[in-house]
Amino acid sequence: MIYIFFLLFILGTCLGSFISCVAYRYKLGISIIYPRSFCDNCSQTLQHWQLIPIIGFILQKGKCHFCKQKIPLSSTVIELAIGVIFIFNTIIIANTNLIFTSLLVVWLTLISLEDYYTLSVDSITLEYGGLILLIFRFHTVITNLKANFLIIILFIIILISCNLLNKFGTADTILIVFSFLLLGFYNTLVVILLSCILGIISYLIKRDFSASHPFIPYLSLSILIIFYAINIFKILII
Ligand SMILES: [Zn+2]
Repeated sequence: MIYIFFLLFILGTCLGSFISCVAYRYKLGISIIYPRSFCDNCSQTLQHWQLIPIIGFILQKGKCHFCKQKIPLSSTVIELAIGVIFIFNTIIIANTNLIFTSLLVVWLTLISLEDYYTLSVDSITLEYGGLILLIFRFHTVITNLKANFLIIILFIIILISCNLLNKFGTADTILIVFSFLLLGFYNTLVVILLSCILGIISYLIKRDFSASHPFIPYLSLSILIIFYAINIFKILII
């Protein structure tokens, strides 16, 4: 079992490294394939050993091998976090949900990073990623739609109206619709409430009321909290 945990941790750190790279390249407006990874400060192309998740950071002692500029800790933290979450998923989530839950974490982290860096989300990542995840949970989607079809449609119309009035982001709306289909109507109301509370706490801590703030990170975190809560509750009552 320890080997499986180790392999999943490695897989998690690699995916964490990949999504950090994709989000950062989205911020710079460059392709995810070309050019090869480089130092932000001296533009030197990084060698393979420097790109190994977590280990590359440790071997370089947190500084660029070439110019000694400090390397931001954020990418390593994300690698470590996704690796730990993959092990956590293996322990608490049933086998059938393991792949879905892990992909959900990776996708939500990626779109959160993109929104955090640029206040926008790549539409292909958002729409196709969400669609693929919902196909995984086709039966849940149908059940949630059957249960609250009219009120979900009404809510979507209100959100789209807010989009047209520029009062709410399109990506935020798409993620809320994703939440309706995955978690159901009432759980999504809790998601929206929780995201607003997290957002307000963050604003109060930063005390920056002038600039625009990303909302996708709060929505994503809230979706994950409610998703895990539902799954852990199911395990506890079985
Ligand atoms: Zn450098």
